[in-house]
Amino acid sequence: MSYAGPPEAPQPPRPRATPGAPRAPRARAGSGGSRVPPGKAASGDSQAVGSGGSRVPRAGAAFEGSRVGAGRVLAGALASALLLGGCAQSVDPIERLGKRAAEGVHPPGPATDRGYRRWGLNEPLDRPPSPAARALALTPHTSGRVLPRVVDHVPTRDRVVFLTYDDGADKDPRFVDMVRELRLPLSMFLTDSVAGPGYAHFARLHRLGAGIENHTLDHRALSGLPYAAQRAEICGQQDRISSRLGLRPRLFRPPYGSYDTTTLHAASDCGISMVVLWRAAMTPTDLVYTHGEHHLRPGDIILIGPDETTGPSLRERTARVLRKVQQRGLTVGHLEDYLN
Ligand SMILES: [Zn+2]
Repeated sequence: MSYAGPPEAPQPPRPRATPGAPRAPRARAGSGGSRVPPGKAASGDSQAVGSGGSRVPRAGAAFEGSRVGAGRVLAGALASALLLGGCAQSVDPIERLGKRAAEGVHPPGPATDRGYRRWGLNEPLDRPPSPAARALALTPHTSGRVLPRVVDHVPTRDRVVFLTYDDGADKDPRFVDMVRELRLPLSMFLTDSVAGPGYAHFARLHRLGAGIENHTLDHRALSGLPYAAQRAEICGQQDRISSRLGLRPRLFRPPYGSYDTTTLHAASDCGISMVVLWRAAMTPTDLVYTHGEHHLRPGDIILIGPDETTGPSLRERTARVLRKVQQRGLTVGHLEDYLN
């Protein structure tokens, strides 16, 4: 355990769905500081615009922005809106993907048996099923135009969930050891102004199988920005990741979950095939859910948010999620296997 302190002790009770929203801003050391313009904090953060044009906030988005104090003013509205379950409207159902045959979970291999306790687990992490990569058929968003799908979970009967990490502030080499020893599949959504210049860390994770995906150049809330600005944020990060890591992401996560139709057009023009949100988010203390049942389900996409300087380490927060995953009889799958 690498707890720096009891995070909930000095804080008032918070609604489950609004992690971090009322939290006082924290000073961050060496992580790039604010990622969102102050004027955007109240209007753009933690909002998402679905294809139908309805604006919905996302649990965890306020958490993601909490380090700059963003989202605090949204606490009440966020809680109310989340109770309405509006987030589901932002996700295009992709039921045609849900016909994957249920497959048995493979027993853990020898490498997994070694040292899982060292990483905070009480039992070995099951290997995921071995699915053939299955392309997700895209449907036209508007007449004659194919836009990226927006997903916050993967319809599947495989007993897997997906771990996603944002920004790239944390470059703990021990986290790489954890990923290697647990053979942990995960996806990193990188923001250049946060992840850079430490791309070598993410290259190591990529060599271990981690997906490297796009989270913009500078972590701006995109909803409402002109096309050119959104394209610059997304395409710019495509180019940066290509030059640093030699790959071009197919998946994109908008900072704070803030996007609009312009975002989808810009993302498409930058080579993005899928916009990936999340149904569950790991706060410093617990998992919270944007909608639906308040426990993990097969196919859930989990956001393990940016590190908190006074909270549990990324390793510890990952271990907490893994224990919850195991408690539900689930294991971790590789998101890119399901969303390619
Ligand atoms: Zn982020």
